Amino acid sequence: MERRVLLNYDAETMRTLEKQGYHFVGKHRHSAVKSCLWLKKALRGEGRCYKGKFYGIASHRCVQMTPSIFCNQRCVHCWRPIEFFNIHERAGEKLEEITAEIAWDSPSEVANACIEEQKRLVSGYKGFKRTTEKMFEEAMSPKHVAISLVGEPTLYPYLRELIEEFHRLRCTTFVVTNGTHPEVLRRINPTQLYLSLNAPNEEIYKKISGANFWERILESLEVLREKGGFERETAEKIVRKEEEVGEDARRTRTVVRITCINGLNMVHPEKYAELIAEAMPDFVEVKAYMHLGFSRKRLKRDAMPSHALVKAFAEKIVDALRQKEEIKYKIVDESEISRVVLISSGKEERFLRGAEQGDLINSTSIEHHK
Ligand code: SF4
Repeated sequence: MERRVLLNYDAETMRTLEKQGYHFVGKHRHSAVKSCLWLKKALRGEGRCYKGKFYGIASHRCVQMTPSIFCNQRCVHCWRPIEFFNIHERAGEKLEEITAEIAWDSPSEVANACIEEQKRLVSGYKGFKRTTEKMFEEAMSPKHVAISLVGEPTLYPYLRELIEEFHRLRCTTFVVTNGTHPEVLRRINPTQLYLSLNAPNEEIYKKISGANFWERILESLEVLREKGGFERETAEKIVRKEEEVGEDARRTRTVVRITCINGLNMVHPEKYAELIAEAMPDFVEVKAYMHLGFSRKRLKRDAMPSHALVKAFAEKIVDALRQKEEIKYKIVDESEISRVVLISSGKEERFLRGAEQGDLINSTSIEHHK
């Protein structure tokens, strides 16, 4: 049987997405690049995104992409048109069975197409009066790849190889996953792995995600813990495997990201703390839902919490965590304009090795949605 691509969007949806700045790349058009607001701002000398502030990421050198516009969840806060691009997993179906029907581009095709598209997008800034020559040259040589645009990257069957391909191109990789494929997370080693945890319990998870993968998300929390060099000694006790926490063994930094939706999931901070304690991530980002894209059809504007509400909720999570674990999590940074708070375990250096620091200003990246 000939493989087919399950792109079922119509021409109008495609045009709308393109108008929103999505650039589909590759032969089979399951991957996309979108230059984020902060890439443009950085090139105009107007600041950099909160990942610059938190981790030293250079916004003008960051490619925001996805290898899979498809997703297996239907989150209320998603910026995609979830009526389209969705993969419907049946109970017991293996990931390989689901993705076998799709014709995929190879990892090198995806990586090269994304980098080329990014350079094409940046090339318009040549000679722009507020873009210095140095800035432009740097932007033409991307250094970071955020595999986080939309869709679920673990549905791309060659995610591990794609990450390796970007690393070969001397880029760091930030992967954001919904946690529905823990077996894939075990195999990949990005620079930083984000797990979206958008509910304190199964009931709220189902309401938000329109899916039924809670058990898998719990397993993904365990995978994060393993990647951090921790193991479970007893049902109550998680211990650190000291011998595996050396610099070389810890190649993947781990982050739990909570997207706060006012009136939906900003409840039970102690339950979030329990789940975070299962994963023992290096960092936790507590971030406001942003009222953007197709999510505006599903949620009202007041679902977007203020920074003060997000911070107060983050503080409650930290209080609950501090009562539980040996590792004392604490709030170490925030970006008011992005409505995001950074919680750190203190066990990992915040700034990426080789990342630029200095002139770190308060700024936002509203493009990273999950
Ligand atoms: S928010 Fe992420 S996980 Fe949820 S439907 Fe959208 S792409 Fe999928």
